Amino acid sequence: MLKGKTALVTGSTSGIGLGVARALAAQGANIVLNGFGDAEGPKAEIAAMGVQVSYHGADMSKPAEIEDMIAHATKVFGSLDILVNNAGIQHVARVENFPVERWDAIIAINMSSVFHATRLALPAMLKRNWGRIINVASVHGLVASAEKSAYVTAKHGVVGLTKVIALENAATGVTCNAICPGWVLTPLVQKQVDAKAAALNVSNDEAIRRLLGEKEPSMQFTTPEELGALAVFFCSPAGNNVRGVAWNMDGGWTAQ
Ligand code: NAD
Repeated sequence: MLKGKTALVTGSTSGIGLGVARALAAQGANIVLNGFGDAEGPKAEIAAMGVQVSYHGADMSKPAEIEDMIAHATKVFGSLDILVNNAGIQHVARVENFPVERWDAIIAINMSSVFHATRLALPAMLKRNWGRIINVASVHGLVASAEKSAYVTAKHGVVGLTKVIALENAATGVTCNAICPGWVLTPLVQKQVDAKAAALNVSNDEAIRRLLGEKEPSMQFTTPEELGALAVFFCSPAGNNVRGVAWNMDGGWTAQ
């Protein structure tokens, strides 16, 4: 379905980004990977799916590096058709204890990078009158949790920005939507599981049970594969008129 298209997935060396990259590659899209983790493993795996793959190590907190990455994608593959803004970090602390440097980093990486990558990718998408911008927000773009001030602020911002981008391009072939996962067991969440296990002096499994039990009625993690399938739907012809949604995949978290 996506043969001949190019998808850039930020933060795709692990977790959700890698799951989305795999799902888009399975549909035939060429892939540009990004992120700070091991790139060689994911690169080899995606190349083995029969598509072309490239990597750019832009730091998503640095607008000049984002600009270089968008130019790289266009130079290597001739076009950038699908932009998945996924890179993100987390820090957990009460507002009065929140390190200023962590606040700035989360706002830059989780929110401002979406603005920068989108503003740089949009003109060429509009010229071809086809594009998909998919922002990996979070349930925390819709509701809050204590001790996640910067993350909740950034993700609410991403949901708002998604709607503005969708509206500004509503009469074109470029759509913009957000995905709002609940808990997904990636390195980002394993850190929170480890912290809970240490704080409560319980096993990894018990920490997971409590983490899910606090928020997620399904008592199941959403998987990167499920999120990848949603991204593929946004890219499909049936997704043509889906514009500006914040689609949660959260085991009932926000239904409560
Ligand atoms: P992860 O830690 O597995 O992946 C994050 C990716 O971002 C990695 O590839 C990492 O190297 C990259 N990254 C971090 N800082 C970067 C920077 N400055 N520049 C470029 N790349 C950078 O985490 P994940 O859980 O897969 O998170 C992916 C996205 O999903 C994030 O935006 C996160 O907020 C969101 N999300 C995660 C969950 C969850 O439960 N795991 C839930 C909702 C939303």
